[in-house]
Amino acid sequence: MNIFHLLWIIGLLIYQIGIYIPRVRDYKGKERVTLVALSGDIVLELTTWVFWQLAPFFYIFGNLLSFADYTLPNWTSWLGVVIFGLSIWLYRRAYADLGTNWSARMEILSEQHLVSNGIYAHIRHPVYAAMFLWALAQPLLIQNWIAGCALLPLFTFLYLTRMPREEKMLLEHFGEEYKTYMQKTNRLMPFIRRKM
Ligand code: SAH
Repeated sequence: MNIFHLLWIIGLLIYQIGIYIPRVRDYKGKERVTLVALSGDIVLELTTWVFWQLAPFFYIFGNLLSFADYTLPNWTSWLGVVIFGLSIWLYRRAYADLGTNWSARMEILSEQHLVSNGIYAHIRHPVYAAMFLWALAQPLLIQNWIAGCALLPLFTFLYLTRMPREEKMLLEHFGEEYKTYMQKTNRLMPFIRRKM
């Protein structure tokens, strides 16, 4: 294990213990009004999760995947650390701002309201943006085609199949309120000109 692998493990622990698990605990037992997640979604979600959190563990603590290694200069790994840190910061912000409106699936909960403040005043999908940052950092920290690189194409595919349905659901549920919100924000990147 090198320093970058260690930092990846620390990052994952911060994410799981400090950010994700507390949200799941709040979420349990909540009632929903709409569910647009399809049963097939779980296949892609699970596959993405395997290459996000499980494969790096296998890689770091075993040597089964070492045939797919590559080597990058040290400075790119430090760049990876910076991007990784940004990802965790953004996750924290997004989960804090979304609060009890968060859900792992694409659904509307009965007490859900539209969040358009905090980080959500700048972008509509900070959780997905944080995941993209993580998926960009991972190949720099874990220099392996399977444990490091597979996440980015998988998550891109997941995002492209999920985000449009999520926006459609939110538009149907919140109507004008979401439409106005869409006009004021970009999906993932703040500060760039909007097309619409
Ligand atoms: N796409 C968002 C949220 C991911 S969590 C992001 O990337 O930050 C997924 C859940 O968040 C969905 O079930 C959806 O109902 C809810 N959601 C998404 N945007 C929201 C918003 N602006 N206000 C309230 N809930 C939102």
